[in-house]
Amino acid sequence: MSILPRKKKSNIPHLLGYTCTICHRHFPYEEELLTCPVCGDTAILDIDYDYDIIRRHVSRESLGRDHTNSMWRYKAFLPLAERDFTSSLRVGWTPLYRSIRLEAELGLKALYIKDDGLNPTASLKDRASAVAVAKALELGYDTISCSSTGNAASSCAGNAAREGLKTVIFVPERAPQGKLAQMLAFGAHVVSVVGDYRETFNLSRAAIDKYGWYNRNAGINPVMAEGKKTAALEIAEQLHFEPTDWVAVSVGDGCTIGGVYLGFRDLLEIGLIDRIPKILGVQSTGCSPFVDAARDHRPLRPTPENTLADSISVGVPRNPVKAQRAVSASGGAWIAVPDEDILDAMRVMGSAEGIFGEPAGVTAFAGIKHALAQGVIKPGETATCLVTGSGLKDVVNALRAAGAPIRCLPDLEELEKTDLIARLNS
Ligand SMILES: *Cc1c(COP(=O)(O)O)cnc(C)c1O
Ligand SMILES: [Zn+2]
Repeated sequence: MSILPRKKKSNIPHLLGYTCTICHRHFPYEEELLTCPVCGDTAILDIDYDYDIIRRHVSRESLGRDHTNSMWRYKAFLPLAERDFTSSLRVGWTPLYRSIRLEAELGLKALYIKDDGLNPTASLKDRASAVAVAKALELGYDTISCSSTGNAASSCAGNAAREGLKTVIFVPERAPQGKLAQMLAFGAHVVSVVGDYRETFNLSRAAIDKYGWYNRNAGINPVMAEGKKTAALEIAEQLHFEPTDWVAVSVGDGCTIGGVYLGFRDLLEIGLIDRIPKILGVQSTGCSPFVDAARDHRPLRPTPENTLADSISVGVPRNPVKAQRAVSASGGAWIAVPDEDILDAMRVMGSAEGIFGEPAGVTAFAGIKHALAQGVIKPGETATCLVTGSGLKDVVNALRAAGAPIRCLPDLEELEKTDLIARLNS
């Protein structure tokens, strides 16, 4: 199904249409499209904007005057009809911290950390879900659906709950408990499919087609990367439109990194920045289809999914074109890091900066370290690391990274027998 049945008509003056990422055909905006009407279900679309209109609405001054403390300060960049978002969940406008300690340790001129684990459902996926939910409402749907094992699903459920939309989530039987608890708490109708992820996805697609729900699927729906691009818009604005030399992003399906590139491209188009940062795509060595393809100069091949960073354990990425373009068009690089270094990054970011990311959330930081060691990032350059999800999403691996507490009987003499003071002074 490439055309979304529209129950209402939208008026979006700055949305010109769509370009297929495979055949490069252009489709003017008459109908809401999901995928290319010519190439079919797997051909993802780009959304084309009239930058003259965006430029007329947005400037440094207009943004400077805008006190909206959410991603909706960038409404003018999104493929949505005009609407008031002040009562929606507060997605985005997450903090960008400078990390004096870690930049010194690594030999960078500056290191910034964007903590997207602070979104309402604790991951960057909220940026995409917020746009998907807004689009579903705009088109007159009352139910939104997706299949996912984790953050996309819990984020969809949370944002939909706030707007009074019903949510149907399809998860494979082995879905992680923490994320499952979130979806259920948000009142989603969760279907636990007795089968693997591929079978889950297929059932969800058949059900969405049959019942006509709105399809929140990052691998199909082009508005998802548009929502995620607000992370890049924020990084640029928070750095006074002088982004760092590098921006590092962990990569699973490739929608996030693709979106980050789109945000910088938009700002370049309207003249708010004068160069796009080099984008570093980071994967685990346990599951690195993009890194392998780039190293061997060949197309992507399915790979085993063998990493503890579950959010980027994606052997067959669904958004490859946008992801590869982000790295090549920005002059960036691909890099893979072992899982031990991902756990180490959890420990270091937590203890050095008070930032607690899930494994996929801190993978970008591990990637910056490796890129420096390999000479891909040069000492004296500047970098931003995007933390994509909170450490509370995956307590099992957090405990693996962080170690055990000191065990002690409730008595001061007993406490003195422990190595607490030695540890404090070391
Ligand atoms: C989804 C996700 C990613 C990767 O995003 P893709 O669009 O799949 O590449 C990274 N980190 C976290 C925490 C995620 O939830
Ligand atoms: Zn096409």
